[in-house]
Amino acid sequence: MTVPAHLRFRAGPDELRGRVVAITGASDGIGRALALAAAQHGAEVVLIGRAVRKLEQVHGEIAALKRAEASIAPLDLEKALARDYDQLAAAVQQRYGRLDGLIHNAGILGALAPVEHYDVPTWCRVLHVNLTAAFALTQVLLRALRASADASIIFTSSGVARRPRAYWGAYAVSKAGIEALSGLLSEELQGSGGARVNAVNPGPVRTRMRSQAFPAEDPQHLAAPADIVQPYLWLLSAASRGVTGQYLECQAAH
Ligand code: NDP
Repeated sequence: MTVPAHLRFRAGPDELRGRVVAITGASDGIGRALALAAAQHGAEVVLIGRAVRKLEQVHGEIAALKRAEASIAPLDLEKALARDYDQLAAAVQQRYGRLDGLIHNAGILGALAPVEHYDVPTWCRVLHVNLTAAFALTQVLLRALRASADASIIFTSSGVARRPRAYWGAYAVSKAGIEALSGLLSEELQGSGGARVNAVNPGPVRTRMRSQAFPAEDPQHLAAPADIVQPYLWLLSAASRGVTGQYLECQAAH
């Protein structure tokens, strides 16, 4: 069987040079690894997240790479109001004048519980952070994305979006929603010189969220965040021009 392009891809040192890429949840886990990898390959990264201290640490690590500059855009996806989104979009517009990549990576697991007993406020929080906030952020950043000659939007899904599993509640529903949003936005932007839009499933990755979901699992058997960044880099780079409306798995076996 042929290995798909996004799994074969190995980004060159300057693959993302000249591109501005915003990443939500850049403070930790997969988002942090994506921020470092994008910067390593020359991108100017906008670190979006709620924990400014952690973002400053990532900012410092990127500065130490001496490849490209990063900036921090504080945004709590649970609490942000319309004016916070507008301020972020205005700051991106002012500093860069465009956006070449937007990775919706931030997410929360919420609770693992049967629908019968699922806590309603937790349900609302998970749907808001994982789905509604990604919609709102995309909406305000479309102007900057349209100003790019080759913009790429990446949504983060999960295996449970397509294979519903008991007790995954709001998380699974939010990821099914993300795939719907990714697909319809891809259709809307086609042909208008707009961004390409795709959804990615990282597969099992050694992060805080994974250990929250599978506390008894030995994390050493899992891929590290840095191991799964290449498909994202492929989607951000010119190598994936024209690819839109796709769902991509980051690990061959999942
Ligand atoms: P982590 O828990 O390690 O990281 C989640 C990130 O999201 C953190 O940066 C966190 O910020 C941020 N975040 C959470 N809530 C908010 C908020 N209200 N506002 C802003 N940022 C927020 O998770 P992963 O790295 O594992 O997950 C990244 C993505 O990958 C998620 O969308 C997840 O659903 C998906 N995924 C992960 C898999 C895995 O095995 N790890 C498998 C399939 C999908 P803070 O540091 O402040 O907490």
